[in-house]
Formats: sequence, C-alpha cells, structure tokens
Amino acid sequence: MARYRDALCRLCRRESDKLFLKGDRCYTDKCAVERRKYSPGQHGQRRKKLSDYALQLREKQKAKETYGVLEKQFRKYYYMADKKKGVTGSNLLQLLERRLDNVVYRLGLASNRRQARQLVLHGHVTVNDRRVSIPSCLIRTGDLISIKNMSKKLAIIEENISKMEHRGMPAWLEMDVSNIQGKIVHYPARDEIEIPVQEQLIIELYSK
Ligand code: SF4
Repeated sequence: MARYRDALCRLCRRESDKLFLKGDRCYTDKCAVERRKYSPGQHGQRRKKLSDYALQLREKQKAKETYGVLEKQFRKYYYMADKKKGVTGSNLLQLLERRLDNVVYRLGLASNRRQARQLVLHGHVTVNDRRVSIPSCLIRTGDLISIKNMSKKLAIIEENISKMEHRGMPAWLEMDVSNIQGKIVHYPARDEIEIPVQEQLIIELYSK
C-alpha cells in the first residue's frame, strides 16, 4: 500500500499547525513548527491569502495527515459518515478515532499513530483476545484491546506504559494498566476529540 515516506515535520509546517506526528518530540522545543513558523519550500515565507477552496483542502489534508490515511480511504470514511445519522463532520472524526491504530495510540500503548500502526501490522495487538493486524479495523464499544502476551515485554511497550499517566487518556477510553487491556467506553463526541480540524470545511469540500 502507498505510504507517505517524506519528513513528517514538513507536514505540520505545511499546515502551520502541530499535528503531533512524532510523539514525545512534539512536546519539546525541538518541534519544527515552534522553530520555523512558516511553510516549507522556497516560497514558504511568502504571505498568501487562501481561497475558500484552499481553506477546505488544507483542513482535509490536516485530518488525513493526522490519522495517516490516504485519499481513497479518507473519502470512504466520508461516505460512511454521510450515511450515518447525526452530524456528518462529527461522524467522520468519530470513525477515524475508532480505527485500531488510533485507539492503540490514544490508550498510550504507542507514542504516536505511526508507531501504533506498526505495532498492529507486526501482529503485537489483540482485539477480544484475537490477533488483529489491520490498522483500519473499526473498534466497537466494549471491544478489549490488548498486547499479545509474548509482546508485553517489548522495551517499546514497557516504555510507553511507563509514560502513560503523563500523556493522559481521553474520557471515552478505559485502561487496565496491570493487564495492559483497554476498551472504548463510549464513542467519542466531537468535544472529546482533540484535533485542530474544522471538519465542517471537509464536508463542504466533499459535498461539492
Ligand atoms: Fe509536527 Fe511533532 Fe514535528 Fe512538531 S515535532 S513539527 S508537532 S511532527
């Protein structure tokens, strides 16, 4: 599957916003957005007035980059969100939050979504005691997310668990640290999803 392999901080600089793609580094003064507050590239420091379309496009790109989803799959989430009852924008973000790689990250088992995706792809993650290696798998309320017994001693898992408290956890998730087992208590409402995206602009872009 196609994947973005260029510098991650470049994506944040392009959006002039912190997308927290690198885990702990994002909270330090090494963050590229903090150090260079302008877009990357030769004309990055020029002041530009964005059109309505450009604003909508940038919001969509921001959401895609934050969750590490490519265009085709992102559009699929939009169609799913549109079919569901309720506000399409909130439905879209809720679907993205329910992805297995995102839940692993939000539970604190990985320091960022990329690492979470790799843990899933490498077969370290279980859902309801069964190994699941599909990062886009949508988690339901009550599903038990854990780490395979043999993988619990991995240095990276132990390090992430030790930092779990410091990172905090959203109210819609619950974690039993002693058994390294987490679950979704309820699907997240918009105000429980901390992501600097105006989802309404994404919906406007796709509904043209
Ligand atoms: Fe983005 Fe993190 Fe890089 Fe800062 S350190 S630019 S938040 S990926």
